[in-house]
Amino acid sequence: MSEEDPAATADVAMIGGHPVLDFVNTVAWRHDEARRADRVNSADAWARWGVAAGVLRSGAASGQDADEPARLALVELREALWAVLDALVDDRPLPLLAWDSVRRALVEARAKAALPPTLPLRWQPAPPGLAALRGTLALQAEQLLASDDLHRIHRCAGPGCGWFFLDRSRAGTRRWCSSGDCGNRDRARRHYARKHPSAGRQGSKAP
Ligand SMILES: [Zn+2]
Repeated sequence: MSEEDPAATADVAMIGGHPVLDFVNTVAWRHDEARRADRVNSADAWARWGVAAGVLRSGAASGQDADEPARLALVELREALWAVLDALVDDRPLPLLAWDSVRRALVEARAKAALPPTLPLRWQPAPPGLAALRGTLALQAEQLLASDDLHRIHRCAGPGCGWFFLDRSRAGTRRWCSSGDCGNRDRARRHYARKHPSAGRQGSKAP
């Protein structure tokens, strides 16, 4: 892991501004095959991530190895959501298989969820464990994809980064996952390019 890695100082960065975006962002460097890294790769790590992301209450998921099928289903949802969001921000047609997979997960989450008799109404995902994490994220994805925030989903402009975030800026012009990470790298890159005008053409390893 290099020093400039955005997630190097924390288990997983939570920069998306929405749990579903942070969920998809658990893979770093989506658009850089050499650096791509899955930050959450065990049932236990997912249980911890769920609590850190505010999606699960502490102790709601045990993260046992027996949850492997639930972990795989969670990863499948993440990958499908990623493909859908990546197409969305590029204004490309939605990838059919991934979009089918996401929609099935949303329908399934509703079918399995309970609706407690309290207000405000709120679906309560079931069953417990990592499946609840998937169910909650599916229900939150439904809300996100049905809301005006859909058009505030942006992808970081940092080369290779690929992280998504909700752009809450008034002008809708936020470009970086974090000004301290990709934004800094961009400033450093431009500074370097000014000082070494020929370096870019020689495949420089400047940050
Ligand atoms: Zn970035």
